[in-house]
Amino acid sequence: MSKRTEKIISILIPAALALMCIITALLGGRVINLEKRLEGYRAVQQLGERESRLVQLSWIEENAYEASDISDLAARTYSEEGASLGYPCDEYEAHASAPGLYDRNGVTYAAGSDSDGVHRVYLTFDDGPSIYTDDILDILDAYGVKATFFVVGRENTASYARYLRIVEEGHTLGMHSYSHVYNDIYASPESFAEDTERIRNLLEDVTGQSPVFYRFPGGSSNDVSATDMHELEDYLASEGIVYFDWNVSSGDAGKTPLTPDQIIHNALQGIESRDTTVILFHDTAAKRSTVYALPTIIEAIQAMDNTEILPITYDTTVIQHDHP
Ligand code: ZN
Repeated sequence: MSKRTEKIISILIPAALALMCIITALLGGRVINLEKRLEGYRAVQQLGERESRLVQLSWIEENAYEASDISDLAARTYSEEGASLGYPCDEYEAHASAPGLYDRNGVTYAAGSDSDGVHRVYLTFDDGPSIYTDDILDILDAYGVKATFFVVGRENTASYARYLRIVEEGHTLGMHSYSHVYNDIYASPESFAEDTERIRNLLEDVTGQSPVFYRFPGGSSNDVSATDMHELEDYLASEGIVYFDWNVSSGDAGKTPLTPDQIIHNALQGIESRDTTVILFHDTAAKRSTVYALPTIIEAIQAMDNTEILPITYDTTVIQHDHP
């Protein structure tokens, strides 16, 4: 090796080492920065979780009903306040008075009849996932109750986590269309099939399970579809998908937001006179009252004789609206 080469090497090696040290220091600094940011995000997230749980717990405490209050809550709210509150009590009167088939606004509801004496109640949440999905799941978990979520397509990591949590905690994950835009999904049988495929594929990709239950946006008795709903029902059947309507509405999707008391009143209608009750709730950012109403509703149902709260499965008596 020439002296010249030796000299070059003796300069190059320390220079290379120094450069590596500088790069390592820079990268190390970046990692520390990123870790700090991540810690910040976690703290914000945990704070949000703690806050929402606190709000929820304080509400439950303030509004805890004694068991005796719960049993006559529906009657009380209806007789004392129903008329003046401006919510459509006539709708719910029909539920309470007719144990078999009854008719409301031209829609005939079939009351499930399994005749084994057990009243089966299915809590169903449409339109999620939302900022309240985790609160709803926490409440269901606290009471050891499984429910059914008819979800729409939301492609972000928070929603993926919520789809997954619903499945992992043993609830039923059903479809409620991908877009929930009536004009699009009900435009033609083809557009309906396209939308259904999209939500089915999304849920299968995220959870590894192919959903088999469906709730039509607006219900199968909706009067906005440009396509004959029977055609869409046939399509779902051909795909092995079972659709469910509801026979009790909590009324939480109305234009005027209801108080938790009103939602409780609506949701508890006629459960003891029916074998199968499918209650319609909503899981959207606008439905905070639903979250607050939920603990009382579950406690009231759990206090009823011979009554179970279950997730929708293939064993569930199908509740579908009659429509022209
Ligand atoms: Zn909906």
